[in-house]
Amino acid sequence: MPAIIATTGLTKTYGRETALRDVSLTIDPGSVFALVGANGAGKTTLLKLLMNILPPTAGEAYILGLPSSEIRGHAFTRIGYVSENQEMPESMTVARFLNFVRPLYPNWDRILEASLLQRFDLPLHRRLKRLSRGMRMKAAFVSSLSYRPSLLVLDEPLSGLDPLTRDQLVQVLRLLARDGMTILLSSHDLAEIEDFATHLGFLEKGSLVFAENITILKARFREVTIPGQTALPTCMLPSWWQPELRDGAFRFVLANAGPAELDAIHQQFPAPLVPRIDPMTLRAIFVALAQSSSLPAPSITVYAKDGAL
Ligand code: ATP
Repeated sequence: MPAIIATTGLTKTYGRETALRDVSLTIDPGSVFALVGANGAGKTTLLKLLMNILPPTAGEAYILGLPSSEIRGHAFTRIGYVSENQEMPESMTVARFLNFVRPLYPNWDRILEASLLQRFDLPLHRRLKRLSRGMRMKAAFVSSLSYRPSLLVLDEPLSGLDPLTRDQLVQVLRLLARDGMTILLSSHDLAEIEDFATHLGFLEKGSLVFAENITILKARFREVTIPGQTALPTCMLPSWWQPELRDGAFRFVLANAGPAELDAIHQQFPAPLVPRIDPMTLRAIFVALAQSSSLPAPSITVYAKDGAL
């Protein structure tokens, strides 16, 4: 199946500032792709280039098979785009706003609209300018999801929301992803995307450091603890990151965990030692990656939702 998004060498400079550098990325249908990175990493710039809000300085992007320069008008009946600082017709009420946008989309699904409104409990007769931040995001969700776009692009949709609102939005995203919608969202908080994103792209200072299936990424890393091992072993493998002695145990992060690496641990620490090998959170994996000098090479490979190539 053709990629939903494919970019090659995408670059954006603002004067002397390079906001995005040579980003090559493929996002397959059905993925929930989370673009993470610190403030200023280039997330918003990348999304704006994809949505043809800004022109690239170099490189190209295809979205739903169209060059990004052709993303306008009718193309937006297949794309939903919600940004953190979305401009909205502030003086309209929620109901009037929805009446206004509904006819613009031939595939508008009134049943989905009604179910989102009920789920979000939005005050229909309140003006948009009087909505709280979370309510505004919910209104933007209703207006951008009710026409069941093939691709949903969300710029920091969850930042600054209370946990309940965040969970409501994530639940909706999860349901739509299950129905096959491709979602690209940006975030600077790994924990907030960990439980529903299928893929992760990490931007740092404008460069895409890696893009990978989260299941595969998580399977590659393990936290290993050897209780009772109170001296550093004489032989340590390169895939043992951050070895340390702490609280009466030898600990390290196992990178590239596979059957051979796990066997090697059991051989090197035989009974009565009992190695403990635990999965790691995305956040812990990122800390390990950032602290090691061996960040994986930039990858343009993104896997399908089920992890298959
Ligand atoms: P945040 O998480 O804070 O929203 P971000 O990852 O979305 O950050 P961008 O907003 O894409 O990052 O900004 C990337 C870089 O480009 C930053 O250094 C920013 O200062 C710069 N930048 C963004 N827009 C402009 C602009 N219009 N003119 C000049 N520099 C800009």
